[in-house]
Amino acid sequence: MPNPSKKAAVLGYPVSHSRSPRLHGYWLKHYGIDGSYEAIETPPEKLSETLKSLAQQGFAGCNLTLPHKEEGLKLVDQADAASRVIGAVNTIVMKNGALLGSNTDAYGFMENLRQNGGAFSRERALVLGAGGAARAIVYALLEEGFESIAITNRTAGRADALAEHFADNRLETVAWEKREKALQGVSLLVNTTSLGLHGQPPLELSLNGLPREALVTDIVYSPLQTPLLQAALEKGHRTVDGLGMLLYQAVPGFEAWFGKRPQVTLQLREAVLA
Ligand code: NAP
Repeated sequence: MPNPSKKAAVLGYPVSHSRSPRLHGYWLKHYGIDGSYEAIETPPEKLSETLKSLAQQGFAGCNLTLPHKEEGLKLVDQADAASRVIGAVNTIVMKNGALLGSNTDAYGFMENLRQNGGAFSRERALVLGAGGAARAIVYALLEEGFESIAITNRTAGRADALAEHFADNRLETVAWEKREKALQGVSLLVNTTSLGLHGQPPLELSLNGLPREALVTDIVYSPLQTPLLQAALEKGHRTVDGLGMLLYQAVPGFEAWFGKRPQVTLQLREAVLA
């Protein structure tokens, strides 16, 4: 008997903006896999029943996007270490009716830097922003062995809460007004705020105090070359754009659902951007 077609999906609210169907669709076609990946608009109050229904229908799993990542952690039967520490699930594998949750955002962020950032020092990182994405990134930097990590955020209380959440003495917070001073000695600068995104104001930050060898990355990928990355390039820094984070975070889910570890390629980048 032929194997049944494998199905996966992304659940979000709204979900029409998600690039995940295009991303997974590209890989399904590229590897000639009999499978599907769809976007399912899921209001928060329907998340639990939608997950149960997908499991009953034989889905291999799904991604969770805004606003479901935190609630997803409560609904899964098992959660991996990253999702437990970050407090959010973005990938679910459905096996014999059980929901196995994981968080691949931290992996996606760091893999993007490993593949595209060249050799960079793990001395000191400065993280701009303290929202949902910053949580996964701070986790990634701690796991990666950064010696010190400073977090700065417009709303100071959120930066403090983020540092307290991880309770690690390598973390410190810096007032948003002092962010330029905090560039001193930084080997990795990460923007996790939505500043620089299409339709949002640019990030106001002079890079004069940033050491020349520092790597600069922005997780905003629309536009690909954010004003921050442009300014960093003009000053001779190496930069890594945010699209790779999106692409690499999808690799573990695709492998678990469809049985093939997919490659992140230039053609994939172009297909997702098209
Ligand atoms: P979020 O939880 O809403 O956090 C937004 C962050 O931006 C907060 O730190 C917020 O500061 C800051 N911010 C917003 N407007 C600001 C302003 N005018 N001035 C200063 N700070 C401002 O969002 P998120 O989920 O962390 O996502 C952040 C960005 O990352 C989004 O653009 C998202 O598209 C992108 N992202 C990319 C990937 C990827 O795969 N590349 C993955 C996830 C997210 P306050 O706390 O003061 O409000």
